[in-house]
Amino acid sequence: MSLPPFTVTILGTSSATPAYGRFPSAQVVQFHQRLFLIDCGEAAQFQLRKYHFSIQKIEKIFISHLHGDHFFGFFGLIGSMQLQGRKRELLVYAPPELEHIFKTIYAASDASVTFPLKFIHLKSHSKELIYEDDAINVYSFPMNHRVPCFGFVFQEKPFLRKIRKEKVENLSLLPIHYDVLRKGEDVVLEDGRILKNSEYTIPSPPPGVFVHCSDTFYTPLYYKNFFDSPDLLYHEATFSSAEAKRAELTFHSTANQAAQAARDCGAKKLIIGHFSARYKELTPLLEEARAVFRESILAEEGLTVNIRDGFPVPVPVR
Ligand SMILES: [Zn+2]
Repeated sequence: MSLPPFTVTILGTSSATPAYGRFPSAQVVQFHQRLFLIDCGEAAQFQLRKYHFSIQKIEKIFISHLHGDHFFGFFGLIGSMQLQGRKRELLVYAPPELEHIFKTIYAASDASVTFPLKFIHLKSHSKELIYEDDAINVYSFPMNHRVPCFGFVFQEKPFLRKIRKEKVENLSLLPIHYDVLRKGEDVVLEDGRILKNSEYTIPSPPPGVFVHCSDTFYTPLYYKNFFDSPDLLYHEATFSSAEAKRAELTFHSTANQAAQAARDCGAKKLIIGHFSARYKELTPLLEEARAVFRESILAEEGLTVNIRDGFPVPVPVR
């Protein structure tokens, strides 16, 4: 059964400043035919173009926190959307201050936005459902950083069960019966016969879960409070263990700790990113993570990963 896309493409992997061809934090999730941007570092709109994502197709932006390397690209991106005639609504999930900063900048430059731009303020100290439709739930949860910071869970809803055509072709079922079967329930026919769901349908592939953990101090088992066994976990790994003290002082994680986090929560695959500019060569960070959690890969600009199985895929042509 071919499923609609559910992928994440890495646009920026650098912490604090650009370094060695790496850009500040940004990732784009393609969920079915929709785009969600997570963080918006300085180069985000250039990177979106480079990897053939239409900025007008971005439906929602999730900003983890208000350190510049995670949101300084936001203002330019909104400006480009406006100049290119955007009409479609854009929802921005971010700490409350972003709306104020945005309005201040736009007022100072006498600029305006004429498409519907809505800010949804993130401030909860617990896990919160921030968006839901018939295909996905998105949750925020608090991270442990120097300023209020949020992680995100993108949880695809289960697919409908598949009907076994050979079992139903002579039954003259009504459309409502098919709907009931697809939802996983038994059908009671008018003559009292019961069609047991397990005999007439087969399960669809399991839905995918992607968790994005941006800047944070590592606390063992902390994530168990918020999610369990994601298919793909992105976790920051700003430093190597040799800089563990610095990681602690700056409320960041080491590659070793990112891998421990993946193991703690039962993740199937891990992507580490948000690398300090002190590391030109990232292989030691990857090796450090893999020593704890084998299924670790390095974030790199342009990498697209299938969330449901954690394997890299070519960037689709849009
Ligand atoms: Zn930060």
